[in-house]
Amino acid sequence: MENIEKLFSFIDEYAEKLSKEHDLTYLDSVLETLNTWLDGEISPSGSEPTKEEIRKAIQLCILKGMRQSAQPNHQMTPDSLGLLLGYFVEQFYEKEFKTNHKITVLDPAIGTGNLLLTVMNLVGDKIQGVGVEIDDLLIQLAAASAELEKQPIALYRQDALENLMIDPVDAAICDLPVGYYPNDEVAKEYEVKAQEGMTYAHHLFIEQSLKYVKDGGYLFFLVPDHLFESEQSALLNKLITQKAWIQALVQLPSELFSSKAHAKSLLIIQKKSETEKPVKEVLLAKVPNMKNMKALELFFAKVQKWKKEQK
Ligand code: SAM
Repeated sequence: MENIEKLFSFIDEYAEKLSKEHDLTYLDSVLETLNTWLDGEISPSGSEPTKEEIRKAIQLCILKGMRQSAQPNHQMTPDSLGLLLGYFVEQFYEKEFKTNHKITVLDPAIGTGNLLLTVMNLVGDKIQGVGVEIDDLLIQLAAASAELEKQPIALYRQDALENLMIDPVDAAICDLPVGYYPNDEVAKEYEVKAQEGMTYAHHLFIEQSLKYVKDGGYLFFLVPDHLFESEQSALLNKLITQKAWIQALVQLPSELFSSKAHAKSLLIIQKKSETEKPVKEVLLAKVPNMKNMKALELFFAKVQKWKKEQK
């Protein structure tokens, strides 16, 4: 913790200074600070920080900056959710990771990179990342963070729902942007396009991700709690039934979200493949309060038991 605090102060103090001197927003100055560090003009004192120390210190600075300005849909994915999602990625790619096979993972709404980097750091150097983001500042923060953490991520600044110039990936993870997607011209190419009015962006992101994941690959989405109960969910249901097998739907602890309306679940699906079979039983579970260690242990044991029974 001490190292993280020191690193936070190192970034924060320089950013505050830049912000005052050049009349920049705090987040812009954080980006400027990270780039100055990358250029070697400044560097933190003491021993070399680990990847996780760098990620956590940057995360604290971004949180501070976002408190001043961010919209709800730009919010960074916090550690607690990243670590849980990472745990599931580890479970589903256990064989590959044990045999030192690298996998490619796409995050089509990478934002600051915090979610993807949490997962990449958790599993060790076993993921080649691919990230897409529409916001200029956020993707630059993701680029600087990835470079400082020495994690390989190929980044594309564009609307992720338009065509992507990427090769098929092994897996996808995403904290989906929730709400209506404004560009009907693009949405009309999608099977989940609403018959009337604007389509949900989170549905379009699921369809788009399925397009770029290889057959048999897994997709891990943080989704709104009532994903399958909206007036547009029939089309989403149809798409998922045609193209994928649902593996798990895990409700996340409500205390991690600001309100019930913002509560999320983790949806895990597998893109259909001729060489694989659907799971015998879909995992439906609820993560307990994360401060309750005993209950958490029981939850992880339940997941592992379920995973074994599917083989
Ligand atoms: N996981 C990210 C992180 O840790 O910073 C946060 C993801 S945030 C919930 C959703 C992201 O989707 C935002 O950064 C937003 O700018 C991005 N986004 C929304 N619509 C998009 C689009 N059409 N194409 C690409 N990115 C988009």
